Amino acid sequence: MTDTLDDFRAEVRAFIAEHAPDIPYRAGVRSADNETEFAALQRWTGQLYEAGYVGADWPAEFGGREDRTPGHAIVVAEELARAQVPGGQSGSVLAARALIDFGTDEQRHRHLPKIRAGEEFWCQLFSEPGAGSDLASLRTRAVRDGDNYVIDGQKVWTTDGHWARYGYLLARTDPDAPKHKGISAFILDMSAPGVSVRPLRELTGTSDFNEVFFDAVTVPADAMIGAPGQGWVIANATLAHERTNVGAVVVKLRAALDALIDLARRVEIGGRPAIESDRVRDRTGEFSARVEALSALTGANLTRWLRGGERMHDAAMGKLMFSELNLEIASFAVELGGEAGVLVEGDAAALDDGRWQDEWLYARAFTIAGGSSEIMRNMIAERGLGLPRDRR
Ligand SMILES: Cc1cc2nc3c(=O)[nH]c(=O)nc-3n(C[C@H](O)[C@H](O)[C@H](O)COP(=O)(O)OP(=O)(O)OC[C@H]3O[C@@H](n4cnc5c(N)ncnc54)[C@H](O)[C@@H]3O)c2cc1C
Repeated sequence: MTDTLDDFRAEVRAFIAEHAPDIPYRAGVRSADNETEFAALQRWTGQLYEAGYVGADWPAEFGGREDRTPGHAIVVAEELARAQVPGGQSGSVLAARALIDFGTDEQRHRHLPKIRAGEEFWCQLFSEPGAGSDLASLRTRAVRDGDNYVIDGQKVWTTDGHWARYGYLLARTDPDAPKHKGISAFILDMSAPGVSVRPLRELTGTSDFNEVFFDAVTVPADAMIGAPGQGWVIANATLAHERTNVGAVVVKLRAALDALIDLARRVEIGGRPAIESDRVRDRTGEFSARVEALSALTGANLTRWLRGGERMHDAAMGKLMFSELNLEIASFAVELGGEAGVLVEGDAAALDDGRWQDEWLYARAFTIAGGSSEIMRNMIAERGLGLPRDRR
């Protein structure tokens, strides 16, 4: 961090304080709960792009800012996390990257201005019931028919699918090619005939992701992003793009730890404040050490990334440490709450208005989304430590 970035941080903090949408905080990455929240999120998205806080790395002709560095993006992510306010909608951020790097001029001009304005929300149509960790085994088909492709199949876990205007879709166009080579990427109009979106009700009680079904959905051939068979390369390039969120997870964990210590001062064990118990002090001390270790690791990873020396397993180490620690802190808080810990949001006697229960119920999602903990451990073992490959 430099003086310039410190000034920028103060500017971003003031901007968030003035303009942040009036949406109640919920743990994790969540969808709008109703039309009013959705409209507020759209407005907020437009403001973040307009201020150059999101999308600064886009080409200048689409509003990118040459005066902004990855350091600025890191500051923005940290400040959004500190204020517990949503950032750029994830499906659109990902789709925009695919269009910028692999799309045609026509595709870029049609979609990027509307994504910037917050008008178009996108969803990521990758995972399927039988293809998550092993994404390349996806079975949704796109069959060429004259000037069109006809799509049949199913996706699942589609975050924001029920709000999205477009989907960034991976489908198999060549069933005879090796599995990584037969996949293509498409722009899918979510209102096209044959697309059905079914929200899933989750453990947290809200619906943030969906099942999406395709029944003979026709898309024009020019809705393909890149070339036939290039889908796997495009998907990996877009997923690997963003590293600037990692500082935000440390901010989030530090806030969670402060809240946990505050909780331990307020609840009692055996008639004494919990914070006076050796077990509670040991546990919070251990959490604190692990948060600081993650902070150091994150700093090292970011430095390597900025200098072009990132290693395959760097992101996996950070992701594994964050998601497991986040789950453990939330579990411990719920446990400290005793009987009140088992009540949920909306119950007057719930611990801190149900905030910890929501954190705890959502925390499992972070250990799955973006690569499960087992997959992260395999990557660290095989790529980082050079251990023999796991049996597949
Ligand atoms: C909150 C949330 C939001 C998401 N949003 C989206 C979205 O918008 N769009 C989208 O396309 N996807 C989305 N996903 C899907 C996500 O990418 C997948 O859940 C993830 O890739 C894991 O795939 P899976 O759920 O099919 O589990 P599986 O791959 O079936 O894994 C099941 C279990 O087996 C383990 N396992 C699998 N393979 C191995 C192996 N080789 N070695 C050891 N263990 C293994 C896993 O760790 C896991 O415990 C989201 C997921 C979550 C949780």
